[in-house]
Amino acid sequence: MSDSTSLRDQVAIVTGASSGIGEATALALADRGVKVVLCARREGRLKALRERIEAAGGTAMDFYCDVRDRGRVQAVVDAAMMAWGRVDILINNAGVMPVSPIAARRFDDWDRMIDINVKGALYAIGSVLPVMQRQHRGHIVNVSSVAGRHVFPGNAVYCATKHALHVISEGLRAELAQATPPEHGIRVTIIAPGVVLTELPESTTDETLRDTIRSWYTGMPGALTSEDIARAILFALEAPSHVNINEILVRPAAQQR
Ligand code: NDP
Repeated sequence: MSDSTSLRDQVAIVTGASSGIGEATALALADRGVKVVLCARREGRLKALRERIEAAGGTAMDFYCDVRDRGRVQAVVDAAMMAWGRVDILINNAGVMPVSPIAARRFDDWDRMIDINVKGALYAIGSVLPVMQRQHRGHIVNVSSVAGRHVFPGNAVYCATKHALHVISEGLRAELAQATPPEHGIRVTIIAPGVVLTELPESTTDETLRDTIRSWYTGMPGALTSEDIARAILFALEAPSHVNINEILVRPAAQQR
């Protein structure tokens, strides 16, 4: 049996590291000896997280990045290369969920979801890919959702962005698999969580809907924690290098759809 992949001394970029799943994943990676680039917009949170990682003996860098800004996303990769000379892992996690029925015509929310959840994720992939291709090694983890597998009325645009991320991930995986010479050193994984108790419902701009979603989240028995998702991500990253865990769908035991 092949050994699992050791993450020690690898370099990871985590988008949306200032809270929730991104924060928990950054901590879990640092705990495994990974050098982590922490990206998001709330700089105070990133700095506090970096200090927490360093206090525990880990290595991290914090970097302001709005993933809607393609130049800034490239700058994150450039900073990682400058500091540590490689990028082994991308945790493409930044996302928002300002849901509402389509008839509510919340155009700005649609733009935000498409720009962050889809275009931002693509910018990050586009920025790390040349580096990973040169290295013949890398792992891109795209944090999608159960909303990338099912369509929930009232959530159509959010679901569309997560479906798009599934399609992009599968297309990228297949392209890398058929490259000549085969670039089997670059793996692509979709992590599709169900309900995880994070700040995500706060991104819903419609107040009534936000309250409904908050209550649904907090009312779900055994709702997942960010650490549950970080564990699933580590499982994919630590698989032996010839094994590509393509997709992990993780729901609370009590979640129906
Ligand atoms: P959080 O709200 O806690 O985290 C979202 C993260 O995205 C924050 O760090 C936020 O940082 C970052 N972010 C938002 N907008 C931008 C932007 N424009 N540029 C850079 N970073 C940005 O929620 P979660 O941890 O739950 O969400 C993480 C991912 O998990 C998302 O993609 C979400 O869709 C997905 N997911 C979550 C589920 C859940 O139930 N919680 C279920 C399924 C999927 P900042 O605001 O500082 O920029």
